[in-house]
Amino acid sequence: MRLILLGPPGSGKGTQAKLLCQAHGMTHISTGDILRDAVRRGTPMGKLAQPYMDQGKYVPDHLVNDIIAEQFHQPDCPKAFLMDGYPRTLAQAIAFDHVLQQASLGLTAVLKLDVPDDEIVRRVSGRRSCPKDGSVYHKVFQPPKQADRCDLCGTRLTQRSDDREEIVRERLSVYHQSTANLLDFYQQLKLLRVVSGLGAVPEIFAALECALKSEGVQC
Ligand code: AMP
Repeated sequence: MRLILLGPPGSGKGTQAKLLCQAHGMTHISTGDILRDAVRRGTPMGKLAQPYMDQGKYVPDHLVNDIIAEQFHQPDCPKAFLMDGYPRTLAQAIAFDHVLQQASLGLTAVLKLDVPDDEIVRRVSGRRSCPKDGSVYHKVFQPPKQADRCDLCGTRLTQRSDDREEIVRERLSVYHQSTANLLDFYQQLKLLRVVSGLGAVPEIFAALECALKSEGVQC
């Protein structure tokens, strides 16, 4: 199965992406994770991307398109995958379409998680992560065992610079502006399925599975 999972930052996209990948044996490809890792390691790409990420802005299309094209041009390129956080603009969708055509791969579906902006702000501002291993917690929904400490390595948890409320609002406005065209693009290809991202994690997962059922996948 080959999926794109769309949704605003903080919609629970990352959590659902992991569950879907486990359930269907897909490779999870998250441009946010790839870029954060590059920033942590201080690579040239990380240095180019960091100023955009810190301000909640999109990294230029050509940078993320190059990251993805590189992955799909490898001989062991993933045949079953879930794209998380890419494509995010129409230009990226067109570039990705080209990459997939070159690899003779077609998409199964594009799933969109819908969550109202105010709910997103409430969720994201409580999010904390471990600067060492990248594991993610939430002050209310998924607190660590010991306050402000990573369960795995004990490191003090931090708030991602782009999870502060003013930055989240900026990210949401960028998301709405750039996704409109993207949704039209996948709607025209009859690939788009919209699912509510409100409720408990297992409920949302079940709704996503049911949306996939219309693509012939068992839910
Ligand atoms: P995410 O974890 O998917 O919310 O991504 C975190 C940040 O990485 C975003 O706010 C952007 O700055 C950058 N980023 C990730 N994926 C993309 C993309 N497809 N296009 C542009 N910027 C991206």
